[in-house]
Amino acid sequence: MKVKNINGTSQNRCTCGSWIQHWRNFSQQTATVCRAKGCSRNDIVGAHVQIDKTYDNHWYIVPFCHLHNSAKGKIELVAGTNLVSANKSKTCE
Ligand SMILES: [Zn+2]
Ligand SMILES: [Zn+2]
Repeated sequence: MKVKNINGTSQNRCTCGSWIQHWRNFSQQTATVCRAKGCSRNDIVGAHVQIDKTYDNHWYIVPFCHLHNSAKGKIELVAGTNLVSANKSKTCE
């Protein structure tokens, strides 16, 4: 699955404390390294992304390193990575 970053959203906060914690709370998964395919950097944050499909414009959180969190263009995810909704009213609030 390919995703693309949504820029200008990193200052938003949710009640989980951080977006990477938000992803951990709702994905049922753990992550110690970036979920961009082929990346092994461990400076991960919860990145806001959209799926690279025109019919789904919802916002999601995935664990990306700082490099991929600021990357432009399409990013292939590690297979099996759960996307967690960034919609707080559907998750933690
Ligand atoms: Zn949250
Ligand atoms: Zn990365």
